[in-house]
Amino acid sequence: MGAIVTIGVVGAGQMGHGIAHVMALAGYNVMLNDIDPDRVMAAVTSIENNMGRQVAKGIITQTAMTTALARISRAENFSMFADCDLVIESATENQALKKKIFAELSGILKKEALMATNTSSISITGLAASSDRPDRFIGLHFMNPVPMMQLVEIIRGIATSKETFEAAKAIVERLNKTMAVSEDFPAFIVNRVLMPMLNEAIYTLYEGVGTVEAIDTGMKLGANHPMGPLELADFIGLDTCLAIMQVLYEGLADSKYRPCPLLVKYVEAGWLGRKTGRGFYDYSGAAPVPTR
Ligand code: NAD
Repeated sequence: MGAIVTIGVVGAGQMGHGIAHVMALAGYNVMLNDIDPDRVMAAVTSIENNMGRQVAKGIITQTAMTTALARISRAENFSMFADCDLVIESATENQALKKKIFAELSGILKKEALMATNTSSISITGLAASSDRPDRFIGLHFMNPVPMMQLVEIIRGIATSKETFEAAKAIVERLNKTMAVSEDFPAFIVNRVLMPMLNEAIYTLYEGVGTVEAIDTGMKLGANHPMGPLELADFIGLDTCLAIMQVLYEGLADSKYRPCPLLVKYVEAGWLGRKTGRGFYDYSGAAPVPTR
């Protein structure tokens, strides 16, 4: 397997820009793509701001920041990925959309290039089957915010080769992150455990057991969680939370994973959490204010 020098990233949302950030700092060339060109512009600005904070805190040097930023370029379309050694897909959590992306990339990427997905829940085997290279396809599940979170889950599809797995492990090592290997089951390890807890917190709100503030304070001070579950759901994105619950519910065919109707309603309203300025909290002021 050839050396990985250039990495394409599809989807420049909150995860895509974090992935670009850590990859560029680790010395990879990064090409960033999004269906919405404004998102790529916003992503580059966020990366600059976030690296600037890392410089101010003494985590990285100014030189490392300047060099890393110079390694990031924009890819207006997938044809610009022709020379990439790896493409990581981090677009919206939707199986049909991701399958379409991998089918399209198949005709463009060089034969030896690897494909990875940052999906939080969707079958790696199923996504790999939409590509022309299921053996060179893997799940690389980063955590949010990528520059700060230590874990990367690695998930092999049924056809993923040993060489692809080794290449993925080497990338995680080069990022100085820690991996947890998960089998390819709905939502893998982290979200299989985390997401039903967040969904339950939303049920607790829906049933009137407590207010937003009481639920979050309860779990922060009572269970020693750094963020309350509703605050965390807003941070992840309520559309992503709902998509993951749907994958768990359908994939494991068990009613215990039923998405809370209040979560569905918030997503229908377009209240997706921090990224849209409103979720279980309103983020328009200086400090978040509970919305219920
Ligand atoms: P996001 O909404 O911030 O970003 C998604 C981006 O994908 C948007 O910018 C959108 O324009 C873009 N996009 C949609 N369709 C596209 C296409 N066809 N081609 C190119 N770009 C396209 O969402 P996010 O939180 O960054 O999530 C992205 C992925 O990462 C999802 O699979 C999600 O499950 C996963 N993930 C999310 C988190 C989290 O905490 N938010 C954590 C780990 C993994």
